Amino acid sequence: MAKKLELVAVNKKYKLDNKQTFQALYDISVEFDSGELISIVGESGSGKSTLMNLIGGLDSDFTGQIIADGENLSKLTEKELDKYRKNKVGFVFQSFNLISHLSILDNVTLALTLSNVSEKEKVQRATEMLRKVGLEKQLKKKPTQLSGGQKQRVAIARALINDPEIIIADEPTGALDSATSMQILEILKEIADSGKLVIMVTHSEKVASISSRVVEISDGRIVSDTINENYVKMQVKNEFEEPKEEKKSEKTGTDSKKVDTKSKQISLKKDKQNLSLISAIKLSTHNMWASRVKNFLMAFGVAIGIGSLILMMSFSSGIIDYINNTMKSYSDPEIVTVTKKSESISDVLNFEKNKFTDEEIQTLYSDVNAYLEEKNIDFVVDENSTSFGFSLMTMTLPEASVADTFDLENKKQVYYLYSIPPYYSDKNVIEGSLSTPPELNSSGEIVKKGGFMFTKSIYSLFLDESPIGKEVTITIELPDETKFTFTDTICGIMDSSVMSGYLIAYIDYDYLRALFENTPGAQGLFAPTTVYINTGSEEITNEINSFLSSPDSKYSGSIEDQLAGMFSSMSSTIGTSLTIISCISLLVSAMMILVVLYMSVSERTKEIGVLKSIGARRKDIKRIFTSESFLVGVLSGVFGIIFNLILTFIVWIVLKTTLGIVPISYRWWYFFVAMGVSIVISMLSGLYPASKAAKLDPVESLRRE
Ligand code: ADP
Repeated sequence: MAKKLELVAVNKKYKLDNKQTFQALYDISVEFDSGELISIVGESGSGKSTLMNLIGGLDSDFTGQIIADGENLSKLTEKELDKYRKNKVGFVFQSFNLISHLSILDNVTLALTLSNVSEKEKVQRATEMLRKVGLEKQLKKKPTQLSGGQKQRVAIARALINDPEIIIADEPTGALDSATSMQILEILKEIADSGKLVIMVTHSEKVASISSRVVEISDGRIVSDTINENYVKMQVKNEFEEPKEEKKSEKTGTDSKKVDTKSKQISLKKDKQNLSLISAIKLSTHNMWASRVKNFLMAFGVAIGIGSLILMMSFSSGIIDYINNTMKSYSDPEIVTVTKKSESISDVLNFEKNKFTDEEIQTLYSDVNAYLEEKNIDFVVDENSTSFGFSLMTMTLPEASVADTFDLENKKQVYYLYSIPPYYSDKNVIEGSLSTPPELNSSGEIVKKGGFMFTKSIYSLFLDESPIGKEVTITIELPDETKFTFTDTICGIMDSSVMSGYLIAYIDYDYLRALFENTPGAQGLFAPTTVYINTGSEEITNEINSFLSSPDSKYSGSIEDQLAGMFSSMSSTIGTSLTIISCISLLVSAMMILVVLYMSVSERTKEIGVLKSIGARRKDIKRIFTSESFLVGVLSGVFGIIFNLILTFIVWIVLKTTLGIVPISYRWWYFFVAMGVSIVISMLSGLYPASKAAKLDPVESLRRE
């Protein structure tokens, strides 16, 4: 019958940096069988670990043949080698190599986790294994809370959990005192006596004397191979011996871990179960919790970027919403407002230039009518469908063609004079009314009509008193210093939120024109700057508006339109700068995640080696690290949303107290976008560290101090 492990003419050369090689093993041919407790002895540097790594399937770069439990290791693919390590060999290391942030139980179940065994079964099997090594009461402890001997017992339990045929122990007692060493040796002997092949590397003669066979290596060659005649197998049934009955019954079960060699071979081939995503996430949660301060800080960093991203989005949509709402309350869907298009800021301020001459009004009519005809729209713009108004968008600049001063009980204010647009109604009035009833003289003629409507800014001039009913005198001063003065009462206060920051007096246009009709030098002063077309239909209004807003149009919309445009461009500037800031901070976050995860790979090199030694595939390692970056993303997303809510609250208070308006509106999906961005950034940043971790060489990783 074939032996459990056969080595035939095995040679191992290490490649050195300068294209040279170093031969560590020469023509090793040896056979080991089940039930043997082998001690490999030899000077340091003689090749013992090299041999163990080959037998353990950690290193497949050799010549010759290693046939372990029927598997020819030199012919196995990387995947098959992973499976071999997972199911057929168990490793015990001198320095225990337990994963410090996992509990004892989790350390032992790790190999089963990699095989996606159910939680219940995992715990059951691991508990049983820990009971066998006498640690059933320490399940919940962390490795640091155990003594050296106890740690090594955990390592043995871990090595045995998948019921491997071969146990490889590299100086298992090297770090233990002699009494503890003997206890560990007893356990290893029991395992060998239960029918497994146990191969251990040792320096201790005492250890060697207890084993059933001692193989000595010197300079990469076997120099002696001695059977210990005095070796006595345990006669009584030991803890590690499988009950014969159990073996039989399990043979038929679906889980074929604890069955004889033959059926196990089948199970090895069939075993397609790998580390599940849920288990990977669970493992990563443990990892992340182990370095929680670092991870929380990193998530906070990313959260700043995510939080400001949401703020940016809600700010942009807030401004758009605000403008839309305002536009709705300051326009009439059936009225088109037409002004002359200004080519530059100074044009906007050039009141003279913005006035429509009679000719220009006729041109406007024919332009719009031509367009309507082309579109087959049955509507004609003429005197009957239009009315006029004016507005001074002087922006308080002294070059403005009309410099206006407001003499109110000797307080001088720059202000703007607008006509009341036809679509203003009582809903735009917060106090008083749109106009005062006309005053007639004895012969029935109107001597006074309308009155002034003001924006809310007027309140600041009257302090505690209501401005309604107060008389104000307005002086219009032309650049040539001609002055026109008129006095009227304040009839109402406008709720004009877009323009509430400006002090604006509104007056009835026809009344104002009539008032100055006979004043020398005032002719043409109040020529219209705005034409209102009453279409009587929302559809036609939209059509004409689309004509007016075409790029080559000579016209533009209302003051509100223009202000809205200014707000939009302002908001897009703010939006763009916020986007840039949040993009930069997201970029910084990505770098930070990359660095932190990269460092974590270096810190956990040994752990990765251990995972590989118990059969983790590259894919599994990648999956663990990718899950970690996924979790970082989720955590950062959650923090980002919380951070954003706090930030929004602060911004809300600041805007409310300073501007009185809060242009912030959330769309429900912003939070999902933020979460998505956070996860994508984290996962992208995690790609490189994860693939680096997956590519680590198991032998080198395990050698890492
Ligand atoms: P032992 O376990 O008996 O102390 P090793 O198997 O670790 O010895 O090493 C055997 C020889 O191979 C030593 O001379 C060592 O320097 C060399 N060696 C081990 N690993 C490497 C490697 N990765 N590259 C080059 N030489 C190596």
